[in-house]
Amino acid sequence: MVDKYDYKQLLHRLMTNLPEKSAKSDWFEVPHAVLSTVRRKTIVENFKEISDLFQREPQQLYMYLTKRLGAAGTIDGNKLILNNLVSQEQIDALINKYYQDYVRCPVCGRPDTVLEKRGRLIFIKCLACGAESPVKNPLKD
Ligand SMILES: [Zn+2]
Repeated sequence: MVDKYDYKQLLHRLMTNLPEKSAKSDWFEVPHAVLSTVRRKTIVENFKEISDLFQREPQQLYMYLTKRLGAAGTIDGNKLILNNLVSQEQIDALINKYYQDYVRCPVCGRPDTVLEKRGRLIFIKCLACGAESPVKNPLKD
């Protein structure tokens, strides 16, 4: 059996079926770490790229990751060198968590935000919708 839609009807169906919500939230893709391992060290090759994409100082992301991983490390140009072995899953999970907690605006879901410290409190300030939401200190707990 053949559907008897003419072109206009088909187009109308396509337009009205567009999932607005998912189109909005899918536009930013959380990056994956590109890892390599050298003598029991883990190198995040695209560390600077990830920081740039999040619009965060590499130092901020560095402190967060090394604290959560319990690892020492150094930033070397575009790379982060961790002094122990870290799995792809571990680092991707942390990058994703950092994004969810400290980059993504909890109100509109966009990633155009800055972190602002006011006294002992830290706020995530959204440049897209203007919302200001308190966040936990990324270097505690
Ligand atoms: Zn927002």
